[in-house]
Amino acid sequence: MARIAYVDGQYGPIDRPAIGIEDRGFQFADGVYEVWSVKDGEFLDHPGHMARLKRSLAELRIPMPMSEAALDVALRETLRRNRLMNALVYLQVTRGVAKRDHAFPAKPVKPTMVITARPASFSAVQARAETGIAVITRPDERWKRCDIKSISLLPNVLAKQAAREAGAFEAWLINEAGEVTEGSSSNAWIVTGEGVLVTRKADEAILNGITRQRVIRLAAALGIPFEERPFSLEEALSAREAFVSSASSMVMPVVRIDDRAVANGAPGSLATALREAYLSGADG
Ligand code: PMP
Repeated sequence: MARIAYVDGQYGPIDRPAIGIEDRGFQFADGVYEVWSVKDGEFLDHPGHMARLKRSLAELRIPMPMSEAALDVALRETLRRNRLMNALVYLQVTRGVAKRDHAFPAKPVKPTMVITARPASFSAVQARAETGIAVITRPDERWKRCDIKSISLLPNVLAKQAAREAGAFEAWLINEAGEVTEGSSSNAWIVTGEGVLVTRKADEAILNGITRQRVIRLAAALGIPFEERPFSLEEALSAREAFVSSASSMVMPVVRIDDRAVANGAPGSLATALREAYLSGADG
C-alpha cells in the first residue's frame, strides 16, 4: 500500500511533489516538528507532545496552523489512511513559502504543515531493550536553543551517522564542561552507585523530552531517588546503569559507552523497571 502523507489540507501519496521550493523549511530549516509513538491506536503522551509543539512554535513566532482539535483530527486521519495501529507519527510545521529573505516575510504567510506515519515494531524495540544499546560520544556542536524542537538537525544527523558507522545506536553529546547534555535524538540518564537516578535539568541545552517528563513522574511513583543535575562523561562511565529516553525508544538501556561496558554490561534493573512501568501505561 502506498504511504499517505497529509500536506496542507490534502492527503496523498508520500512521494508526490508537495512542498514549494521557497518553503522556509527547505531554505532555512525555519520550522519545528513533533513525533508521537502510537501503540494499539493510542497516541502516547499526546497532551505533552501537543503542549511542546505549541511552545516550539511560539518561541519561533510561527502561528499554530490550525486549532488543536483540527490538528488532532488530521493526525488520526493520517494514521487511519495508512492503516496503522502501531506507528511513529511525524508532524512538521514551517513558517511557510515566501520569497527568499532571511528575515520573516513582511506579510505573514500560511505555515506549511506535513504529517506522515510509518509502522513501528514494538517487538523490535523490546528485543533491543533486552540486550541494551551501545552509545558513542561526540562534541555537542549545536546551537544554544536546543529546548526548541527545531527541524534544524544537522549536528544531530552527523552525530547519529557517526554512531551508526561505529556500530552504536546513539551518540551522547558532550559539552565544553565535559557534561553529557543528551543524545542526538534522546535524553540521557544514569543511575549512580548509590542508586540515584540522574538526568540533566531541562534548560536551553537540551530538548525537554516528553518521555523524559513521564519517566520523572514514574520514578517518583516508584519511590526511586532522583536528582536533576548535569553529569559528566566520567560519572557516566562509572555509573551503575545508563539509559536513554525518547518517544520511539521509550526507556532504552545503555550497556556500552565508547566501547566501555556500563557496570556488568547488561541492562540495569531500574531502567528495566522504568521501561515496564512506561509500557504498562502507569501514570506517574
Ligand atoms: N532530545 C532530542 C535531541 C531529541 O531529538 C529527542 C527525540 N525527539 C529527545 C531528546 C526525546 O524527546 P521525546 O521523549 O519527546 O521523544
